[in-house]
Amino acid sequence: MVLGGPPGGQLAGAGAATPGLTPTASKSPTRPFGLSEHFAFWVLQLHESLLEDGQDLGSSRVSLPDPSGRGAPSAAPGASGRAAGGSGPGGGILHDRCNSMVDNCEEVPTKEVIEFRPPLYKQRYFFVKNLVQQHKPKKVADLGFGDATLIWMLKYHHCIEHLVGVDTYAGSTSQWEISNLSPSVGDYLVPRDLDLTITLYRGSAVQKDSRLVGFDLMTCIELIEHLDSEDLAKFPEVVFGYYSPRIIIISTPNSEFNPLFPASTFRHLDHKFEWNRMQFQTWASDVANLYNYSVEFTGVGSPPAGAEHVGYCTQIGVFQKNEAKATESCISTPEEHVYETCEYFVFTTAYPSLQEKKNLLLVLSAEVLRASNSMRLRFIVDPKKKVNGRLVPEDSCVPRYGLIVTDAQRAQIESSPKPYCVGKKFYVPLERLITFPKVNRLVDSVERLRSLLSEALKLNRDQSALQVDLHDHYSRTMLSY
Ligand code: SAH
Repeated sequence: MVLGGPPGGQLAGAGAATPGLTPTASKSPTRPFGLSEHFAFWVLQLHESLLEDGQDLGSSRVSLPDPSGRGAPSAAPGASGRAAGGSGPGGGILHDRCNSMVDNCEEVPTKEVIEFRPPLYKQRYFFVKNLVQQHKPKKVADLGFGDATLIWMLKYHHCIEHLVGVDTYAGSTSQWEISNLSPSVGDYLVPRDLDLTITLYRGSAVQKDSRLVGFDLMTCIELIEHLDSEDLAKFPEVVFGYYSPRIIIISTPNSEFNPLFPASTFRHLDHKFEWNRMQFQTWASDVANLYNYSVEFTGVGSPPAGAEHVGYCTQIGVFQKNEAKATESCISTPEEHVYETCEYFVFTTAYPSLQEKKNLLLVLSAEVLRASNSMRLRFIVDPKKKVNGRLVPEDSCVPRYGLIVTDAQRAQIESSPKPYCVGKKFYVPLERLITFPKVNRLVDSVERLRSLLSEALKLNRDQSALQVDLHDHYSRTMLSY
C-alpha cells in the first residue's frame, strides 16, 4: 500500500481531510418514527452519507493557539467524556468520541483552538472509509465502536456483508444505534445486491471470541490508549495472533501534538497513555514482526504551518497480513463465544438483499414490467405492420431510458427479438427483456429469467415471452392526454 506524504516529511503519511468542510458534527437526531418519517429520515441519512462519500482525505485546516496567550479555552481533556456525561448522537447512549478536546472545538472561539475541518473524528472515519473503498473487505469489525457512528457510515459500503462492533461499554443498545443500524423502508424498496448483517457485542477487544476470526478488516480507532497495561499486553495476541484479520487499522493520539493544545495533559480522562510517534511505531513494528504483518504509518489532523515537526494529531498504523500468514486463516478455529449473548447486550440485524429470492423476484418483476409497459405504450401509438399474422411494431419499442441506455446497449436491444401483439395480448420475448441493462444486472441468462418470471408473472405458452394486456385502464388514461 502506498501512503501519502507526511507533514514535515517525517513519516510515511497519508492524506488528511478536505479543507473547507464544515467542522460541525451534524448527527441525525433520535426521534420516534412512523413509516413515512422513517423513510424521510433514511433519505436524509443517505444524503449525508453520499456527501461524505464524496469527500476525500485532503489536508485539514488548523489554526494555532492564540499567540497572544489570551485565555485558553476551558475544554479540559475529558470534560465531555463519558465519565463526565458526554452524550452520543441524538442524546442517546453516553458515548463520546475521542478526543474530546479537539473534536469539540466548535464550542470555543475558533482562533484560540486547534480547529480541524472536518472534525478529527470524521477524518479518522473517512480514513477508514477510503481504505474500505480501496480494499473492498467483506467482513469488517470495529473494536471499541463507541457510539457506532463508524459502523453506521460503513453500512453504506456495498462490498461489506458482515459488520461487527465490540465495545466494553456496558449500557444497553441505544435508540440511535437501533434505528440507524436497522434496515429502513428504503432498504426494502431498493434491496442491496449482497447480504449485510450488523452485530454489536458488548465485550472486550482482548477477549477471544471465535466469531471474529478471519475478518478482512479490523479497526481500532482511538482504542488502545484506553487499555491498561495488562490489556495492552494481551491485545496483540488476541487481535493479531487469534483474530488475525487481513488488515488492521490502529489509530491513537500522537502526544507530540499535545503541546499545541491549551492544556497539555492527556486528551481524555480515560486514556491510560498517549504515545509519541517513536513509541507507537516501535510498539507497532514489534507487533507486526511478531505476527508476520507489515505496517505503514500515517495519520490525520495535520499540524499548523510552522509546527510540522510534531506530525499528525492522530497517528495511524495500517497493518497488512503477509501472504504466507494469510493462508493460515483458513485453519478452523474451535468455537469460543465469550461475548454476551443476552439480548440486552447484543444487537443484530440483517438487511434485505437480492440474495434472497423473494426480494430478487420483486425487483426483477418491477423492472421487467416497467420495460414491458413502456414498450407496450409505444406499440399502441406507433404505426404497426403484420408479420406472420402478428402485429409487430415498426419502431423497435425501445423504452425511453434516455442517458441510462448507451448507444451500444440500445443497438443490442434493437437487434433482439421484437415484441409483438396477438389479439388483445402484448408479448415481449425474454431474449429482448434480458438485453435491458437493469434486467441483465439482476439475472444473467434467459433460463434464469424464465424460471424466476414463471413464478411471478404470466408467460406465453412456450415460456419464451412475457404476456401483458395490450389495453388497460392505465394505457387508456395515458393515451387520452
Ligand atoms: N472508536 C470510537 C470510540 C473511541 S473511544 C470512535 O473513534 O469514535 C474508545 C472506546 O473504546 C470506548 O467506547 C470504550 O468503551 C471502548 N473500550 C475501552 N476498552 C475497551 C476494550 N477493552 N474492548 C473494547 N472496547 C473498549
